[in-house]
Parts: sequence; C-alpha cells; structure tokens
Amino acid sequence: MSKIINGKECAQILNTNLKNSIKQLKVKRKPKLIIIQIGNNLASNKYIKNKLKACDEVGIIGELKKFDENIDKNSLKLEIEKINKNLSIDGLIVQLPLPSHIDEKEITNFISPSKDVDGFNALTLGNIMLNNSKIYPATPLGILKLLEWKDIDLSGKNVVIIGRSNIVGKPLTNMLINKSATVTTCNTKTKNLKDICKKADILISAAGRANLVTKKFVNKNMTVIDVGANFVNGKYCGDVKFNEVSKIVKYITPVPGGVGPMTIACLLQNTFTLYKIKETNLK
Ligand code: NAD
Repeated sequence: MSKIINGKECAQILNTNLKNSIKQLKVKRKPKLIIIQIGNNLASNKYIKNKLKACDEVGIIGELKKFDENIDKNSLKLEIEKINKNLSIDGLIVQLPLPSHIDEKEITNFISPSKDVDGFNALTLGNIMLNNSKIYPATPLGILKLLEWKDIDLSGKNVVIIGRSNIVGKPLTNMLINKSATVTTCNTKTKNLKDICKKADILISAAGRANLVTKKFVNKNMTVIDVGANFVNGKYCGDVKFNEVSKIVKYITPVPGGVGPMTIACLLQNTFTLYKIKETNLK
C-alpha cells in the first residue's frame, strides 16, 4: 500500500459523491455560494477562480461579487447583510486578506453562522470547541477526512500540530481533541520543537515555513500531514522536506496534491451541509 496520501484522489471521491447527491435533489433550488472579493489581490484571484470552477463541477451555483478596494466597512457590511437575509443563498465567503482599513475579525463575525462555509465566525469556532458544530473550517476538515479515508484512527494517538492559527491550528486542535486524540499545539516560541515532533504518531505542519520539518522531526511509524503552501524560487512546496522525510515515515501527504485539493472539496461539502439544513428548516 502506498505511503503517499493522495489528496487529489480523496477530493475527487468527495466531489463525485457530492455531484451525485446534488443531481438527485428532489427540490428544484440548487445550492448557491457567493464569494465577495475586495480589490484585486493576485493570489485571491487564483483561489477564487479555483473555487468557482469546483462549484461548477459539482453543480453548486458559484457567484463572485467584486468590490473596489476602497469600499468602506459599512458599505461592505450592508452587502453582507443582504446576503445573510437572502434565503436562496446557502454560503458566503469573504475572501481574505481584506484591505488594511477593514477589520477581518469584524467582517468574518458579521457573516451569518448559517452561511459561514469558511467556518471562521466566532460562533462556529465556539461550537467546534463544544463539539456541537455542523460546519468546520475547510482545511482542518479536509485533514480529518484524509485521515479517515486512510483508516488512520485518532483515538488515543499523540498528535503534534505546528501552528496555532485561527484557521488551521486552533480549530484542528479542538476537532482532534473531540476525536479523543492527545494534542500538542506548537508555535514559534515552542522549545525543543524537533523532540516534541519526533514522539508524535501524527505530525501536522501548518507553519508556512519551507523545509521546517526534516528527517530529525520524524519516526518510522508516523503519519505526516503537510499543510504548508510556500513558494521557494518560484516553486510551490510545503513545510516538509519531502524527499528525506518520505523515506522514513509510514504515511505522508505531498505538496501539491495533499491538503490543498481537500480544502476546496470541503468548502463545497460545507455549502451543501448548510443547504440541507436550510431546506430542512424550510419544510
Ligand atoms: P499563520 O501564519 O497564520 O500561522 C502559522 C503558525 O505557525 C503560527 O501559529 C506560528 O506560531 C507557527 N509557526 C511558524 N513558524 C514556526 C516555527 N518555526 N516553529 C513553530 N511554529 C511556527 O498561517 P496559517 O494561515 O495557519 O497557514 C499555515 C500554512 O498553511 C501557510 O503556508 C498557508 O499558506 C498554508 N495553508 C494551506 C492551506 C491549503 O489548503 N493547502 C490552507 C490554509 C493554509
């Protein structure tokens, strides 16, 4: 059995199943996702294009609403409010980063939890902590789905996460605790990072530092999940020195083709979850 955890393949399975579920819907209305973009960030353009393409492939209506980068906070909130109230819309993404004059936290918290496909709203994150959420941020959800797909059990496992961000490390920590894993969440101030990592059953790196995880961080029974998305000399790579680490560990995700495709697949899953909740409530 291959030690490479192929995220592209897993995402394809999820997308095909989702496409079939959408095809078989008895109600006429299709799930609909709106993406708000402020300004013209080049990386955002690419991410948004990929998200809209993925929507199209599974039968979700994806729509981009683009605003000038000088839009003021209150006008943006008015636009969000309209979408929050629109019963024919199931999900809303406000593409980050936002221009510096707009507070990202205020905006993500202004998105109704019932449309929060990104799972960045404080209420969504609180519910995740309480193990009472229907929605999970797409990247952590994608990681859990990859592990499940490979039959890698989490109960009682030592999991080390490098990174404590609000979109990856923190929600993932809570999601893993809720699966009965023992979790250590590291940050730039963590002492003896290498030694902590080396003892893990599962090591998840979400630091955004190319070549951080070397053969000295791993053991032969370990599963390594590389969340990092870095560009070095124009080349896309993760946080893990893949060539040396993959020779030692039991399972590993590549970059590209690991966590990345799962993130988009899980955004689509979240849109469909919120769609189903809405349709059930309307009955
Ligand atoms: P972030 O910059 O918000 O957080 C990085 C975290 O890593 C911080 O908590 C920091 O303390 C920690 N960290 C950084 N260097 C470290 C070190 N040397 N030792 C210990 N801890 C260290 O980043 P983020 O938004 O969580 O994203 C992390 C990485 O994952 C980035 O490369 C990002 O592009 C990538 N990412 C990929 C996907 C995907 O779909 N593939 C999704 C989200 C994020």
